[in-house]
Amino acid sequence: KVRVRFAPSPTGPLHIGGVRTALFNYLFAKKHGGDFVLRIEDTDQNRYVEGAEDYIVEALNWCGIPFDEGPGKNEKFGPYRQSERKHLYKQYADQLVDKGHAYYAFDTPEALDGHRKDHEAKGKTFIYNWHNRLKLTNSLSLSAEEVQAKLDAGEPYVIRYKSPQDETLHLIDIVRGDVKIDTNILDDKVLFKSDGMPTYHLANIVDDHLMQITHVIRGEEWLPSLALHYLLYRSFEWEAPAFAHLPLILKPTGKGKLSKRDGAKFGFPVFPMEWNDEKEDQLYMGFKDEGYFPEAVINFLAFLGWNPGTEQEMFNLDQLISDFDLERINKAGARFDIKKADWFNQHYMQQQLDLDLAHEFKPILEQKLDVIQSDSVESDEISRSTRNDIDINYIALVIGLIKERATFVSDLWELSHFFFIAPTDYDEKASKKALKEGTADILNKVAELVNTIDDFTVENLQTNIKGWITANDIGFGKVMMPLRLALVGALQGPDVFDIIFMIGKAETIKRIEALKT
Ligand code: GLU
Repeated sequence: KVRVRFAPSPTGPLHIGGVRTALFNYLFAKKHGGDFVLRIEDTDQNRYVEGAEDYIVEALNWCGIPFDEGPGKNEKFGPYRQSERKHLYKQYADQLVDKGHAYYAFDTPEALDGHRKDHEAKGKTFIYNWHNRLKLTNSLSLSAEEVQAKLDAGEPYVIRYKSPQDETLHLIDIVRGDVKIDTNILDDKVLFKSDGMPTYHLANIVDDHLMQITHVIRGEEWLPSLALHYLLYRSFEWEAPAFAHLPLILKPTGKGKLSKRDGAKFGFPVFPMEWNDEKEDQLYMGFKDEGYFPEAVINFLAFLGWNPGTEQEMFNLDQLISDFDLERINKAGARFDIKKADWFNQHYMQQQLDLDLAHEFKPILEQKLDVIQSDSVESDEISRSTRNDIDINYIALVIGLIKERATFVSDLWELSHFFFIAPTDYDEKASKKALKEGTADILNKVAELVNTIDDFTVENLQTNIKGWITANDIGFGKVMMPLRLALVGALQGPDVFDIIFMIGKAETIKRIEALKT
């Protein structure tokens, strides 16, 4: 059975790359009827951020890609926080020591620094491996008694992996194909520290093994660790999972890796960061608060490094699950282009039910109207024409008329305010264009005509007004432009007859009268 995991470190909010990794894992698991596991890799206590785990969980839920197994959910292989698995790791480190694949090292940070500087002075780079191992303070260079004495004296130690010498490793990455690595360039990575904590490498391999993970799907930044991970599986004599490393996410220009700064407010999927240790993060709103729909975010993220091999771009989650394939992941970096996300959002906006959008828009609408009304408490004119009727169904009907031009719910106000409140000013250019000699007479006639229409339907309005224009040979522009100006305050908006129908007879006449021609 396919089992994949998303293994974030709770060091801050999820960034875009993290959500994409989670999504690809989720899609792969669901495609194969497998399990999607969330494991919290919190072994680095210094970088731990309170609240980050909740954030991750909520972000996955908001995106619609919840985990099947993880902290507090189906804990078959739990616990799922590495800090709660602390007691597990030492025995595995010792197992490697016993087999001769790892060793105790006692070098102080100062001593290591000294070695680094000596090498640099000679124009070389210091690598802790077969080159230098025997010159350093570790159990390969000390006698068994010396090692024991240091341990007994409570000297700080680390356990290092003993990288093999003169070997070529053949690594397989599903995305990149075969990767060959000369083991002589590998350093002896630290697996375990005397504070009782494993490093990422040890904990990650032990947990993937114990949790029976079959496929490791993660960002390209982990590719350099692949050789060590292969070696660890081999040293433990465990079967290694399959690996797929997802391509980098590039800056919008395509040059260089996307940084936190480029990601700016789009860096995080759910809410603005609540923690204050990094000032700029206060600016990051995240996809949710920027008004993106989860469907749009998912569709957008899926195309960051994957494509279906066809022209189709719109994919809902079910379609993604059925079409997703690790073989179709690109090697080349994926350009992060937020305009594409907007394009998806515009599309998914059209798919929402008008009534659902109305519920989302209502608070924004009410707040806007409140502001206008409180600004104009003194002004009789405005409060007279204010429409208080914001029945949810009315809002939904309005949305139906304008949403094709909206990308976000927050765009709706600009596109629809005149359905709720009379114009308080008139666009200058539009006025010049629409108001001509004779406009006043024409509009008076239109008002009279509107007043006589009893069966107030869009069709009747259209037939009557258009009929009258044709019969009197006036020219459509001369009527429709000033009429639109009176109703909207500008020469924009949906069909004039739709607007008249929606705001009603009395309000239409009032707005015609209010326009000073
Ligand atoms: N904890 C690592 C991270 O934060 C997990 C890397 C992996 O998936 O192996 O990305």
